[in-house]
Amino acid sequence: MELTRRQFLKGSALVTGGAASVSTFGFDLQPAHAQVRQLKISQATETRTVCPYCAVGCSMIAYTLGDKAPNTVPTLLHVEGDPDSPINAGTLCPKGASTLQLALNGNRPAGPMYRAAGAAEWTQVSWDDAMDRMARMVKDARDKHFTEKDEAGNTVNRQTGFAFLGGATISNEEGYLTAKLMRGLGTVYLEQQARV
Ligand code: SF4
Repeated sequence: MELTRRQFLKGSALVTGGAASVSTFGFDLQPAHAQVRQLKISQATETRTVCPYCAVGCSMIAYTLGDKAPNTVPTLLHVEGDPDSPINAGTLCPKGASTLQLALNGNRPAGPMYRAAGAAEWTQVSWDDAMDRMARMVKDARDKHFTEKDEAGNTVNRQTGFAFLGGATISNEEGYLTAKLMRGLGTVYLEQQARV
């Protein structure tokens, strides 16, 4: 039987796309796939970490290039679920499974972006400029909206000029620090996924 290129590719995709991982010609491709994966991470450094996305806190293994030798530049190669974890037993949901892209993604801005009021475009600004502007606005908003005592005379020391919204990508320690800082400023609108 003559096999066209299109039929060959279609057959390969159908068969290798299944769990059996068998080529069009009947070869078991699983050992080959396993070998490729092994080669990819064979020289990598294994680091256990936690998925940054949600409060389930699935454990992960991150593989980075090199063995921390002085002449290697650490590069993230692969991230997968940690099979030793009692939380996720090696599994990750689709979001967690895409964590590699959190670190390696040309579409992510590499620094702070600013869009002026009424402007359509975002522009990249320096961290110094961004931090100066945030500090100025926090100070002004707090000064303007700080309440020491409520109508009944109770001491409340609260500010309602701005809110703080944290994300699941911040660690426990960062969550602790940001909550402490915001509460120290009197912020009452304080929320994040981890509910610190
Ligand atoms: S892998 Fe999915 S379920 Fe697990 S912590 Fe990450 S986002 Fe949450």
